[in-house]
Amino acid sequence: MSERILVAVAWPYANGSLHLGQIAGAYLPADIFARYHRIKGNEVLMVSGSDQHGTPITIKAEQEGKKPSEIAARYHQEFLEAWEKLGISFDLFTTTGTANHAEVTQDIFLTLKKNGYIYKDTVTQPFCPQCQRCLPDRYIEGTCPYCNASGARGDQCDECGKPINSIELIEPHCRICGTTPVFKDSEHFFLKLTAFNDRLLDWVKKKTHWRPNVLNFSTRYLEEGLKDRAITRDIGWGIPVPVAGYEAKRIYVWFEAVIGYLSATKEWAKSSGDAEKWRSFWQGDGVKSYYFIGKDNIPFHTLIWPAMLMGYGGLNLPYDVPANEFLTIEGKKLSTSHNWAVWLPDYLSRYDPDPLRYLLSINMPETSDTDFSWREFFRRNNNELVATYGNLVNRVLTFVYRNFNGCVPEHGELDTSVVKDVEHHLDVASDWLSKCEFRQAIMRAMLLAQETNRYLDGKSPWKAIKEDRQSAANSLYTALSIISQLKTMLYPFLPFSSQKVHEFLGFEGDIEDYGWQWQHLPPGQRLLEPKPLFTKLDEKLAEEETQRLGQAYS
Ligand SMILES: [Zn+2]
Ligand SMILES: [Zn+2]
Repeated sequence: MSERILVAVAWPYANGSLHLGQIAGAYLPADIFARYHRIKGNEVLMVSGSDQHGTPITIKAEQEGKKPSEIAARYHQEFLEAWEKLGISFDLFTTTGTANHAEVTQDIFLTLKKNGYIYKDTVTQPFCPQCQRCLPDRYIEGTCPYCNASGARGDQCDECGKPINSIELIEPHCRICGTTPVFKDSEHFFLKLTAFNDRLLDWVKKKTHWRPNVLNFSTRYLEEGLKDRAITRDIGWGIPVPVAGYEAKRIYVWFEAVIGYLSATKEWAKSSGDAEKWRSFWQGDGVKSYYFIGKDNIPFHTLIWPAMLMGYGGLNLPYDVPANEFLTIEGKKLSTSHNWAVWLPDYLSRYDPDPLRYLLSINMPETSDTDFSWREFFRRNNNELVATYGNLVNRVLTFVYRNFNGCVPEHGELDTSVVKDVEHHLDVASDWLSKCEFRQAIMRAMLLAQETNRYLDGKSPWKAIKEDRQSAANSLYTALSIISQLKTMLYPFLPFSSQKVHEFLGFEGDIEDYGWQWQHLPPGQRLLEPKPLFTKLDEKLAEEETQRLGQAYS
């Protein structure tokens, strides 16, 4: 029976290029999961978009003398190109700048207000006397009131991960000029999170299928108790507050960005020609929603967004929030401001997508932080992708192509001693993938590739063909069949090379249409002339790549 799956992916700020931390944290796992469910024949909707409204965008626009919308449009275009090149297969990647998103956001705002979950209160806001401006949360820094870490921002502490109200910061200062801000009163709307604390705790406690870090973090947070949060700000860039007298204020970005999952689904439905189709991904028991995010985003997806959904009513809460831990770069914490990052457009200008997808999959920060190093990237590309999987495909296909008239051997038979476990490998990988345990799944596929190489080394069909053509045909037919299995197992991870193998084996059309099953090779099927799947990289270049880290980035 086919399942229906909503794949909701974090919304990147449209104020800078994408980097590998974001790819390993959210976009690649989401894409693997979506591709797996699509090839299984399930109904998938994968949505996200660029977050156009954060204050980082207004600051960047000020620095460059441009409008915020120009900055947002530039990076939105860059994101779209990056998804295309890396093979991140969104059904819709929109922006928070659409009229549709504003409409859906204002509807949620007004409904929560009508239901008594949004109220007015006076808030004391930081104002920098030097810069002569209200300081957005991200532009005030100080010591965290919870863990005493320095460098906590006005909205969140990166050290302990807790959301903060800027007035709670100890020794606050303006991030632009360092001046101690003064606090001024202003009237704003608040989301009554306290009203949801008990319901959320009951709900979260039942989520035993969540990753332990996500479950523990959320439970601990609720046991300490949520606080109400202001959801409007004195800024001019963002979604207008749909209440008279609030024309100079905007809905704050954290409140509206999470609504993007819903508004994007509605936009997708409208453009599909059936405006009501969004309901099948948000209502009823026949659908599961998965939110792919980095661990710094956990409270917004396991507490705040579910509270908003509870208060609104009639929409499904998240089924799972498989948040990833962080990716460090060459052993150090990734930092975009210090250019200690590997930028995706830069990577894609020089390398193929699948080697990166491979490394970030097999080294995915699922349960603890993992490290990216250029040396490991080169090593895994050369020793694993090229030497294990690529070599298996290449040597078998090339030999068969040359010695069997470019066709699957006519009288080849499966070597039952080897293939009895092959179906089992696919089931095991399927099990891991459905539980969002991607490392385990790709490791299983690579294990099968290794075993097949060993099998071939034992059989040596390249020598056997001279004395016993039938025995060579059998072992080659067996290896070809396992390669046909591997292209499917690896498809969610390595879509570009899996499609190539699919075609080399003589299959036509899109690999996804062939399903999550072992495609048996009809003897006599015409093969395509094989070419190497992956390129061996000069390991000396790893040193050069490492040197570039931390240098000025243009
Ligand atoms: Zn802290
Ligand atoms: Zn200042």
